[in-house]
Amino acid sequence: MTTKQSLVPDLSLLLALEELDQKRKDVQERLREIPAKTERLNGESSRIDRSLSEKEHSISSKEKSISSLELDCKTSQSHEGEKKVKLNSVKTQKEYDALKFEIDQAQVERDKLEEKILLLMDEISELKDLLKREKLAGEAKKKELKQELGDLSTTEKTLQDESKSLEEQTQAQIQSLPEDALREYSRLRAALPEGRILSKLVPIENAFSCSTCNSPVSPQIVVNIKKGLSLFRCEICRRLLYL
Ligand SMILES: [Zn+2]
Repeated sequence: MTTKQSLVPDLSLLLALEELDQKRKDVQERLREIPAKTERLNGESSRIDRSLSEKEHSISSKEKSISSLELDCKTSQSHEGEKKVKLNSVKTQKEYDALKFEIDQAQVERDKLEEKILLLMDEISELKDLLKREKLAGEAKKKELKQELGDLSTTEKTLQDESKSLEEQTQAQIQSLPEDALREYSRLRAALPEGRILSKLVPIENAFSCSTCNSPVSPQIVVNIKKGLSLFRCEICRRLLYL
């Protein structure tokens, strides 16, 4: 379980590198979340626009229906006028009754049309009220969303700068590492690509444990680590142990 080396690398340098790795990973994770958040906010904004435009479209379609029904009423009235004139010149009672029946029927049809127009007018009035309320709420919400999108964009820029700076710091740290320490670090990083690769020893009662996986570490190993004789890895999680 030991990694014998002639020279024990300065673990504080490795810890600093690990710290940078962790920070870079956190920044990258936060950056990766941004496109989905942006998409969600843009989607919300589009949904508001879509709902308003659907209502506007519905109002305009109902207004067109009213225009068409009004035209039908006018045509019916003009036909009725002609029939009423004709009523004066009919020769027989039968012709008179037939014409009168047509005139009465037309009136019944027109009443139905007028009823439909009134219903549509009520619906339009309700829709207009709803639209007015939704527009007000939608504008406030969109203002909020715009602010959030702006904040997100600022955050993204900050994180990108941070990521660049961390990358530079990492490169500088790597340059400053002795070759053997860098080799050890690369080996550990390859075995544990995610998360921490060093683990602090923590005292529990009269013994020491690995702080990452909590498994006990033998007192002899702790003594050797204290003396800085060589590098020791945790038997369970394979992280490099340090005090
Ligand atoms: Zn461990």
